[in-house]
Amino acid sequence: MHSTASSPAPEWLVVPDDANDLVPSVWPVSARRADDGELFIGGVSAGDLAREYGTPLQVLDEAEVRRRAAGLRGAFDAAAAAHGTTARIYYAGKALLNTSIVRWVREEGLNVDVCTGGELEVALAAGADAANLGFHGNNKSAAELERAVEVGVGTIIIDSTIEIQRLAEIVVRTGAQQRVMLRVNSGVHAETHDFLATAHEDQKFGFPLTEAPAAVARIRETPGLVFTGLHCHIGSQIFGVAGFRESAARVLDLHQQLLAGGDIPQLNLGGGFGIAYTRVDDPVPITELADGIVAAVAEECARRGISVPALAFEPGRAIIGNAGVTLYEVGTTKDVALGVGTRCYVSVDGGMSDNARPALYGAQYSARIASRTSAADPVLVRVVGKHCESGDIVVDHEHLPGDVAPGDLLAVAATGAYCAPLSSNYNHVPRPPIVAVRDGASRVIVRGESMRDLLARDAGITQ
Ligand SMILES: *Cc1c(COP(=O)(O)O)cnc(C)c1O
Repeated sequence: MHSTASSPAPEWLVVPDDANDLVPSVWPVSARRADDGELFIGGVSAGDLAREYGTPLQVLDEAEVRRRAAGLRGAFDAAAAAHGTTARIYYAGKALLNTSIVRWVREEGLNVDVCTGGELEVALAAGADAANLGFHGNNKSAAELERAVEVGVGTIIIDSTIEIQRLAEIVVRTGAQQRVMLRVNSGVHAETHDFLATAHEDQKFGFPLTEAPAAVARIRETPGLVFTGLHCHIGSQIFGVAGFRESAARVLDLHQQLLAGGDIPQLNLGGGFGIAYTRVDDPVPITELADGIVAAVAEECARRGISVPALAFEPGRAIIGNAGVTLYEVGTTKDVALGVGTRCYVSVDGGMSDNARPALYGAQYSARIASRTSAADPVLVRVVGKHCESGDIVVDHEHLPGDVAPGDLLAVAATGAYCAPLSSNYNHVPRPPIVAVRDGASRVIVRGESMRDLLARDAGITQ
């Protein structure tokens, strides 16, 4: 990031004409300003939400989740049908998982991916049919695998040779038939607009392509394990088709080679579809992405003279990310004069405990004053939390009206994915509730933590 000579703002940051605007790609479709300027999400005002549930507050727009889930499903169904195959969508539960969300995406026709025993229990508690679940993870314990087999999880995605042994022991002992896929590492790692393709990727997930044939042979030799295909996930926040095409081409070479040993009905190309966090993010419309990826896979299959397998995809953030908005209350503001210009630090009543992504990997977000609009000129701000850590940033770079002040409600957009799941109790700050809004009504779907919750695990306190 570069600073211009007269401002500490990075070059990519656009000074908005109106620092009250709600950029459509970033906010839920339902986000609007009332006549008095107050922000409404799902027909509920920010002020009413803050008064009823307090701040910070994770708000989820149920209609937005359903709209995006249904949109993905429709787009991939149509794209797959055009190439004589099918496409299944698994919601990647790690992006945000609770029983309400599992029910919403199931009602929209999606399957669900889990990657630990804990996530599996949430999906089961939501009443999900285990046959519609995929189970991921590079270190599933024997107990986790046993539970998955016992409840009848649809597909277990195998990630290591040790896992093949662990699972073989379980199916041989119990007489179960378990469908499995093999996760491979295609050497393609996609990040936003570019992708990197290497022969050997240095990361923990999956089998290198060269080692996969031996692993598949072991699976095929094991009575009780049913090999259904290869799995590959190339990264997150991907905007183009190119990385998926390159990865599919590499995995299809292996798929073709493995066809000599038997039928392979499926191919799972993972998730990672990018979303807009700020106005400069410009994700490809989902229909275009679906058409592009499926057409690329079909072309690669045709080139090899093989039929197109049934496809599966695993989006997380593309379903839940933009459906989430976090509400905070501004506590203090502070102008910090820099060599070039001034930055206004706006401190809110949450921070890295409810959104670790900026601190963890420099994620960018967008914010707006939610309780009112203002005609004041935009100023450069950094929204920060209340934690004892200078990296405790909520929104690194944003423009807000210059009269932003204590007591204002601040809304941060696109916080639906990977915020609550990565939350902590750092500095003994309780985790906020998650509230769903829909058609002018709100309800708690995950309650917030109380001080009592925070103290409950301390064995030195007698309660
Ligand atoms: C994280 C993950 C996903 C979802 O990624 P998003 O960026 O949220 O779409 C899908 N599949 C696997 C295997 C993952 O690890």
